[in-house]
Amino acid sequence: MPRHTKIVATLGPSSSSAEVLERMVHAGIDVVRMNFSHGTTEDHVARAEAIRDASARVRRPVGLLADLQGPKIRIGKFADGRVTLARDDEFILDSSCSSGNRQRVGLDYKDLPRDVRGGDILLLDDGRLKLRVDQVFGTEIRTRVLVGGELSNNKGINRQGGGLTAPALTAKDMDDIKTAALIEVDFVAVSFPKSAADMYMARQLLRAAGSAALLIAKIERTEAVANLTEILDASDGIMVARGDLAVEVGDAAVPALQKKMLRAARERNKLTITATQMMESMIQSPVPTRAEVSDVANAVLDGTDAVMLSAETAAGRYPVEVVEAMSRVCLEAEKSADTALDRDVLNRVFTRIDQSIAMAAIWTAFHLKVKAIAALTQTGSTALWMSRPNSGVPIYALTPEKTARNQMTLYREVYPLLMSQTHHDRDVLLWEAEQILLDQGVVEHGDLIVLTIGEPIGASGGTNTLKIVRVGDHRAPHQSGY
Ligand code: PGA
Ligand code: MN
Repeated sequence: MPRHTKIVATLGPSSSSAEVLERMVHAGIDVVRMNFSHGTTEDHVARAEAIRDASARVRRPVGLLADLQGPKIRIGKFADGRVTLARDDEFILDSSCSSGNRQRVGLDYKDLPRDVRGGDILLLDDGRLKLRVDQVFGTEIRTRVLVGGELSNNKGINRQGGGLTAPALTAKDMDDIKTAALIEVDFVAVSFPKSAADMYMARQLLRAAGSAALLIAKIERTEAVANLTEILDASDGIMVARGDLAVEVGDAAVPALQKKMLRAARERNKLTITATQMMESMIQSPVPTRAEVSDVANAVLDGTDAVMLSAETAAGRYPVEVVEAMSRVCLEAEKSADTALDRDVLNRVFTRIDQSIAMAAIWTAFHLKVKAIAALTQTGSTALWMSRPNSGVPIYALTPEKTARNQMTLYREVYPLLMSQTHHDRDVLLWEAEQILLDQGVVEHGDLIVLTIGEPIGASGGTNTLKIVRVGDHRAPHQSGY
């Protein structure tokens, strides 16, 4: 059985050589994440080309995700690169300061002093340092250090409880959306959205730039948790962005939120990525900790579409081994995953014909215990619906569209394959689909499979037929010229 849960790997210095990329693809990455917080347009173009080469060499589809930097609020630079702050020190965040020292440092978001009040707690460097705001005076936020430590250039700032108001899409993000469209990425992740409006804006910019990418909202602000339903409606999926989220809502609140958000997304037919520090110790170590193994396995049991590697593959010492480790942990967790169909399947309300066929197919496949589903699809939406209830039945999605093939790399339990749909005879196509599953070694003669297709052939949203066959039961349909 192939692995159901998908692996997203972030590219960086550790994963830029053609050789390492190829080994990573071979080890099982499904989607690569290009972090637009680092690198130039030329870097991203070169990376996209390198990963497409590796994908072609290994013959494994790999999706491309552009992760926009977003309005992460950061301090400026220090004259010496860094300072050390001690408890009870006074420290000033000053939007008019250009070179920092032990007394003060600048801000990249000049309006920050407008957003904070006396008594606010500010967290720096992913929460490693903690400041309490005493007073805001003009351009200065005067604070007292509650938890000190070393502070270096450009570290991020969050407010405990959230509520900093920088707009979600910066001028840089708008440029980067054009780059993402240029390199034809399959997914774009929006950082720090607060509401559905942020996602609509991103979608508009993306479509105007000519991109058909799926849109992922990174849930990493307190407001986004509160607005989850409307953000889901405005997006194709979410990322549980535990790094920033933990700083905003408190680390202890994140595990329960993860479960809740993954469930909410699946119920609304949306995609999910669980991200950050999943195998953090493997940046330095060739094996994961017991806690990391549990974390990855639990995300699988929570029903995530994908688990993500960040610095582990971008800057770590073991970019290939970490993919192997993650893959192994996912596979084992999937064996024990509760494959009872999600109970809510029965309560789903749908009115579309194609969705009805998809739901009937997954219901049938699950109870008949078929080996696989073959879904002939144009856009991939049939495969998306089929993959939401976590049936445990592998869904082979056969599409003539490269865009759909690449987007489906993220869908749990879905294995996208390209198939030319030149025949306009349904039975010929279904027979070909059966042959593809046989060629892939997914099924043997005598296995039951479920097939779905739309007629007329090639129309998107046209799936209207469900067929159950025993592999090898009939001969190739006769057709002139076939
Ligand atoms: P980042 O997002 O790595 O871009 O910060 C993920 C997170 O915050 O968890
Ligand atoms: Mn983040």
